[in-house]
Amino acid sequence: MKNILFVSGEGLPFIKSGGLADVIGSLPAALTKRGEGAAVVLPMYKRIIEKFPELKEECTFRVHSGVIDKQCVLYSTKIDEVIYYFIRQDDYFYRDGLYGYADDGERFIFFCHAALDMLPHIKFKPDVIHTNDWHTGMIPIMCKQEYTDPEYKKYKHVYTIHNLLFQGNFPKETMRCLNLSDHYWNNGDIKFDNGISFMKAGIIYADKVTTVSQTYAREILTSEYGERMEKVLANKGDNLLGIVNGIDIDNWNPSTDKALYKNYSINDIRNKKACKRSLQYQLGLRVADDVMLIGIVTRLTWQKGMHLILDKLTNIMNQDVQLVILGSGDNYIENELKKIESTYPHRAVFYCGYNEELSHRIYAGCDLFLMPSLFEPCGISQLISMRYGTIPLVRETGGLKDTVQPFNEYDGTGTGFSFRYFRGDEMMHVLAYAIKVYYYNKAGWRKLIRQAMSVDVSWDNSAREYSQLYESM
Ligand code: ADP
Repeated sequence: MKNILFVSGEGLPFIKSGGLADVIGSLPAALTKRGEGAAVVLPMYKRIIEKFPELKEECTFRVHSGVIDKQCVLYSTKIDEVIYYFIRQDDYFYRDGLYGYADDGERFIFFCHAALDMLPHIKFKPDVIHTNDWHTGMIPIMCKQEYTDPEYKKYKHVYTIHNLLFQGNFPKETMRCLNLSDHYWNNGDIKFDNGISFMKAGIIYADKVTTVSQTYAREILTSEYGERMEKVLANKGDNLLGIVNGIDIDNWNPSTDKALYKNYSINDIRNKKACKRSLQYQLGLRVADDVMLIGIVTRLTWQKGMHLILDKLTNIMNQDVQLVILGSGDNYIENELKKIESTYPHRAVFYCGYNEELSHRIYAGCDLFLMPSLFEPCGISQLISMRYGTIPLVRETGGLKDTVQPFNEYDGTGTGFSFRYFRGDEMMHVLAYAIKVYYYNKAGWRKLIRQAMSVDVSWDNSAREYSQLYESM
């Protein structure tokens, strides 16, 4: 058994901006259930300071990295068997948001350095340092090329790509924050275009690179999905692999979920109808059992296939369906969606914003969950919707392809619906088929619900694969 230190820019239950936080919130705990040791280190953002005043102060230390010379305070807490560490440096992290600031390069070089500098100060002794996404991509190169203490040579490095689109590419001047010579820029290891890339450094210097589904692991080797990192990734050979995410099945459990109007389970799903009626009522939709209610919960970006939805909105609403969309993001998409309520009164609603509770009610109350992503490293929403018996309709990409089995009306197998090419007419074709099954093959639909709810979406299988990976290193 190994001790794994996760380093991440976000993680539940402390701070979340996307699916990365869900993974950091559940994988470490799943590993401890298998007997591994796990700890997590996060930046201590303003929101964490305000919401978690009980965190314990551990010690203070100084971080020197290039031109950076700053003091920070280490905090900690423990939840079940997982230890959480927080790096507090208010100049960098006492801000309203997590990322998207002009000095992000400097902020996260600081964080990477601090996460390594904290190691002599803590009791947890990692065997493996598991870094995630661009924010922590500099850790393997720092650890291997900068630190001379032999302890630092012992650590093995796993780097997980949760989304290759966000690479942490910064101007070359950001080098001044690193304790690395120009050699690493000149030899191309951290150079990307004319600047530096956190993600490229993570890929090259980690011992193993993982991503969050097998299909995405293959897709990112192509120019279509590789975001110009495909050659760097191809050089990893067998050291690049895909392990699909799970979800926290205690948090996402329709039989205990407190956000729901009524609870239900695979053994008795009658209350799912009550959840649907209460959701329709809450949102001002016509309250009716017998109309297909379609849900979408997402960041509003092109990645999530929102242009297909906007393109085909009229066609979708020409069907006998209701639609609820919960999301925020791109201004153009938000503005377009704001029109749907007046165009389709009592049939379509857009809730603009982030709302955890409403998301639970949508996963439970809808019949169909629409997720036509352009690309999807893993995707969590389709896993949640299956657990809640809400049938996903997805595009066959990344984790969506690996986790949703298309319905086969001849042998009755499947857990959802899917289409292959990223085209509106393909999506509409499959949607029309799903609608037909919903209205005219009620036994088939009930079977789909049961099969979707029976899928093992827990972390058990994935945690086993990560354990095997750590053991193999
Ligand atoms: P990504 O990380 O690319 O945004 P994932 O499907 O991996 O996509 O994870 C998204 C997570 O964020 C899901 O748990 C989803 O329910 C949640 N989510 C996204 N948008 C919202 C929102 N507006 N309100 C509540 N939850 C949201």
